[in-house]
Amino acid sequence: MNKFLTLREAARGIDEKKIKPSELTEELLAETGRLNSDLNAYITVSAEEARRAALAADARQASDSLLSPLDGVPGALKDIVNTKGVRSTSASRILADFVPPYDATVARRLLDAGLVLVGKTNTDEFACGGSTEHSAFGVTRNPWDRERVAGGSSGGSAAAVAAGTCFYAVGTDTGGSIRLPASFCGVSGLKVSYGRVSRSGVTAMASSLDTIGPFARTVEDLALVLEVMAGQDWKDATTPPREVPRYSMSLPDRPEKVMRGLRIGVPKEYFVEGLSPEVEKMVRAAMAEYEENGAVLKEISLPYTKYAVAIYYIIMPAELSANLARYDGIRYGLKPEGEISDIIDQYYKTRDQGFGPEVKRRILTGTYVLSAGYFDAYYRKALKVRTLIKQDFEKAFEDVDVIMTPVSPNPAFKIGEKMNDPLSMYLEDAFTIPASMAGIPALSIPCGFSAEGLPVGLQIIAPQYAEEKLLQVGHAYQTLTDWHRRFPKL
Ligand code: GLN
Repeated sequence: MNKFLTLREAARGIDEKKIKPSELTEELLAETGRLNSDLNAYITVSAEEARRAALAADARQASDSLLSPLDGVPGALKDIVNTKGVRSTSASRILADFVPPYDATVARRLLDAGLVLVGKTNTDEFACGGSTEHSAFGVTRNPWDRERVAGGSSGGSAAAVAAGTCFYAVGTDTGGSIRLPASFCGVSGLKVSYGRVSRSGVTAMASSLDTIGPFARTVEDLALVLEVMAGQDWKDATTPPREVPRYSMSLPDRPEKVMRGLRIGVPKEYFVEGLSPEVEKMVRAAMAEYEENGAVLKEISLPYTKYAVAIYYIIMPAELSANLARYDGIRYGLKPEGEISDIIDQYYKTRDQGFGPEVKRRILTGTYVLSAGYFDAYYRKALKVRTLIKQDFEKAFEDVDVIMTPVSPNPAFKIGEKMNDPLSMYLEDAFTIPASMAGIPALSIPCGFSAEGLPVGLQIIAPQYAEEKLLQVGHAYQTLTDWHRRFPKL
């Protein structure tokens, strides 16, 4: 079946005219139809758009005018990425019927490169969560074990790739939302440097932290997608005029080319109590693989790591509460039920009925830490600590090329297990939040399976804008292992 191919293999098949985009699309749409009622990876399946795009790709294939390696290849977008004419809900009741009049820059770039859009994937509401349980459209199930979460917030994107319903998917990562689900679902996921990919048209969560990145089966596939997505955009002033390397062209054909002499930092703050021994063993085995091929492991310290989760839950809600203020029932969707006395009443009712409990919790915290009396004590203080975390990494990267850590303390947990314990849910991101705070890129790649058959991820962190290096280091590992080539039985 074609669905077991990588993006690169599918692209090659299309290029060599062995695979027809429309046939490939029908195969994946059939799989999506078969699996989605159970997995709930997609909020909206855009079959009609997909078929139309695939036929156009067929024509370009026939006339030898394919647009890019992505041309005619089915992919998916997290439902927080706005798409013209295709419902984009951010998994919220407040936007349940919102059909955007524009495309996000990432969506536009991918569509211009030939994306066949299978659909819009499930997420925690406004990307607020780590398990995709906080979606107004129901939980996404983990393809490896349907009793478990797919991770979050981009759980739908990760599950969609893992289940073989698309060859790549776009997600967002503000504190771990690409890396965590990639690790829980056994696929590769990249959180880019802040500013590398335009945020324009992607619903804002915490604007100083939000990043947009790809999921795929392999690192090579991530490189293919990133080179289309990345780069300056006049609609997002935080994207610098920095050249986008041809990431997919600089991947090593032999692992030693990258691994020999590679200096890997192993931060002691990430191998602490609470980390499951099973996960630790697999992550250490992965690092040993690098070492056997010439890399040098070096213990390092990132002393401010322990404050990262605490300050994230000040900065993120502050920015989130400001960003969500625009959903007032006037500009976007949702007409509240019941009598409405005046406009203030309308605001109240819209927001009360439109937002879910986790989002409300965060709006409360956010407005609190921004309020006059507390701004200095919480928000400003948190920003200072954020700088210290950034400096931790800058200092570490004077001596090492990359840093390796677990992605999460444990494999995918059971659905419902952490729903009544927000704090323990927040701690799932203890290993991913620091890189978000520093604005630096981080990759999650599969490095093993637990005794229960659940995937486990390795996190590789690099300096700002060192995506090229990061992808090379990740790809080298995948030339030596086959964790990324395993499929759940569905
Ligand atoms: N799980 C984290 C949170 O709930 C991260 C979310 C994200 O990266 N979008 O905030």
